[in-house]
Amino acid sequence: MSAPINLREQTQASLRRPFQLLIDGAWADSQSGETLDVVNPADGVVIARIPAANKHDVDKAVLAARRAFESGPWATMPPGERAKLLWRVADLLEARKEEFAELETLDNGKPVMMSKMVDVPGAVAALRYWAGWCTKISGETRTVDMPGEYLAMTLREPIGVVGLITPWNFPLMAAVSKLGPALAAGCTTILKPAEQTSLTALRLGELVVEAGAPAGVVNIVTGLGSVVGAALAEHDGVDKISFTGSTAVGKSLLSAARGNLKRLTLELGGKSPTVILPDADLARAIPGAANSIFFNSGQVCVAGSRLYVAEQHFDQVLEGIAAVATHYKIGPGLDPTTTMGPLVSATQQDRVLNYIEGARSAGARVVPVGAGVAKQGYFVQPTIIRDVNPQMRVVQEEIFGPVLVATPVANLDELAALANDTIYGLAASIWTRDVSTAYQLAKKIRAGTVTINSGPIAGPNIPFGGFKQSGWGRENGVEGIQSFTELKTVITAL
Ligand code: ADP
Repeated sequence: MSAPINLREQTQASLRRPFQLLIDGAWADSQSGETLDVVNPADGVVIARIPAANKHDVDKAVLAARRAFESGPWATMPPGERAKLLWRVADLLEARKEEFAELETLDNGKPVMMSKMVDVPGAVAALRYWAGWCTKISGETRTVDMPGEYLAMTLREPIGVVGLITPWNFPLMAAVSKLGPALAAGCTTILKPAEQTSLTALRLGELVVEAGAPAGVVNIVTGLGSVVGAALAEHDGVDKISFTGSTAVGKSLLSAARGNLKRLTLELGGKSPTVILPDADLARAIPGAANSIFFNSGQVCVAGSRLYVAEQHFDQVLEGIAAVATHYKIGPGLDPTTTMGPLVSATQQDRVLNYIEGARSAGARVVPVGAGVAKQGYFVQPTIIRDVNPQMRVVQEEIFGPVLVATPVANLDELAALANDTIYGLAASIWTRDVSTAYQLAKKIRAGTVTINSGPIAGPNIPFGGFKQSGWGRENGVEGIQSFTELKTVITAL
């Protein structure tokens, strides 16, 4: 186990400290003592170990969270105090931004430039956004249509103990986008980060403790999804699960949650279309389409992975996207000049390469674009797949890699049907100069977010979630905070 040498001292020190579970305000190994290796995706070298927790650890964390919710100071604390705590965590994170950026890159593989510009500042901003909500959660008054006089009102109460299960593509941001609203609403939490990328979540736990969170309010339990995630989802002491991950696991949570009918928010997969119309400004549409599939090496749930282009522009657009790909510097994320890193794991690399190979055998034309990639590490070269038919797996299934499936469209009346032709409905982007066409198509596309003349846009105040099998519920904004509350109606006869 060795740390790469070009890390700053703070990050090296962080890697030397043991990674442990955070349960009831204290750090501990897993009950079994078992660990999982943490691998640097850029070279396959083991850089750390994290606890592999089991059901007993989950039981302890749920008990601690329950106690903190029922009898601790958290739920009854003035909301402004909760806001101060979240703001303090944001300040502490900002003070350690370089270390967190390097840890995120080591763990996930993404370019350190991106960790510094997107992930860590995004997490800081999100914590401050959610801090603001603590004092703004409120109900309404209603009229009662009955004889007599009444005062009827709704209260928004914290939903209780929540399990937060996060994916590996934006580890720190995913953790914060769930912890922020959960804590702002007054819930207590058990965070289960993805086993491939738990380092920044665990170090964030240190900041939560340093900021003064009461014991049991934030618990962090690392380990396999099939063990820790499943135990959380089944646990009768958990009132809600907020999950981001694959549609297949999302579906398994439905049966796991049925014991106590816990609430579920599910942010699942996507196969989002990018639609380029005949009048689009190609100088913007081409880089927009390229970045929306190649950003984060395509490991983005809203990635624009299906491209539909008006037939007359098809070749020009594909050539343009290939030209954009040549500008990516593909390499280890820690190299400050890298703009495209490896995929997160050998498993993910195999998955993506299998999809590409499958498309080739099914008769599609596979066009690698940009520079070739190193053999060492989990790299995949950006790839365009053309000459596809709508039934092919690469058109229907989420690949989660830098792979774009491109289709020319002769009859524009078919665009909405083509865009809607998968089980998913997470996002879509439309490129046209005609606002009326854009809006009419936006209305027909069944997706949670539609962007016009832009790739995917997200932020803590922008509702985010999916139609169809892309999920249940919305995260972010007022809808996001409300999903961590129960609505209570109180009626008084005057
Ligand atoms: P991916 O296939 O992209 O790794 P997953 O849906 O498997 O996505 O993972 C997303 C999150 O769900 C991770 O934190 C993972 O550990 C967790 N997870 C995986 N399997 C289960 C499960 N059966 N129950 C609950 N959580 C799970």
